[in-house]
Amino acid sequence: MKAAFFREHGGPEVLEIGEAPEPVVAAGTVVVSVRAVALNHLDLWVRRGIPGLALELPHIGGSDVAGVIEEVGLDVKGWSVGDRVAVNPGLWCGECDFCARGEESLCRSYRIIGEHVRGGAAERLRVPTSNLYAIPASLAFEEAARRARRSWSRVAREGFPLPRFRSACISARGSSCSLRARRTSGSAGSWLHTTSSIGWSRDSRRKCDASRTEGAWM
Ligand SMILES: [Zn+2]
Repeated sequence: MKAAFFREHGGPEVLEIGEAPEPVVAAGTVVVSVRAVALNHLDLWVRRGIPGLALELPHIGGSDVAGVIEEVGLDVKGWSVGDRVAVNPGLWCGECDFCARGEESLCRSYRIIGEHVRGGAAERLRVPTSNLYAIPASLAFEEAARRARRSWSRVAREGFPLPRFRSACISARGSSCSLRARRTSGSAGSWLHTTSSIGWSRDSRRKCDASRTEGAWM
C-alpha cells in the first residue's frame, strides 16, 4: 500500500511517499480504508523526534483518522465492511487500575496510534474495534478526522462537572480537549486554573486574555 513515512527524524524533507507493508487483520480488529487523516501537532513532534521515544523505523505518522471498514477480523461483532468510522488513536491495556476505572487515557501503558505505533498516513490501518466510532453519512471524512482526537477524551464526551468550592487545573489551554473541558466545567463557587505557554506572540496573548475573560486563573 502507499503510505507517507520517514526513515530518520528531521524536518519535512525526511518525509517520503512509497510502499509500506499491508496491515493484517487480527481477531478483535478491523482494517480501515483511510479516507482522511488530519494533521496534528503530534505528527510534527514525532517526525522531529521525541526524547525517550524509540520508534521502529520507518515510521508512519497520522493519529486522527477517518475511513471505511475494509476487512473485519474474527470474533468482531457490531461492525461490518463498508461502515464509515472515525478512529480513537489511544491504545490502552484494559487491565490496569486506571483502565478499571474507565480512565483509559491515563492507562499505565498508554500508547497512541501514529506516535508509538504506525499510524494512518497510509491507504489502510488496522484498528481495535474498541477504537472505532461510527460516523453518519452526512459527516465528511475530513471533518470526522479533524474531530477524532477531540471525541476520544472522556472529558470531551461527558464534560467535567466541578462541584462547588472545589478547584481544578486544566493544562494546555489551547488544545481542543482542554477547550471543551473548560466550557463544560465550573459552577458557582468553584475555581478553575489553566496553563498556557508564555510568549510574546499575538496568539499567546490572545489565549491568555480569553482564559481570563472566561474567569480562569492563569
Ligand atoms: Zn491500562
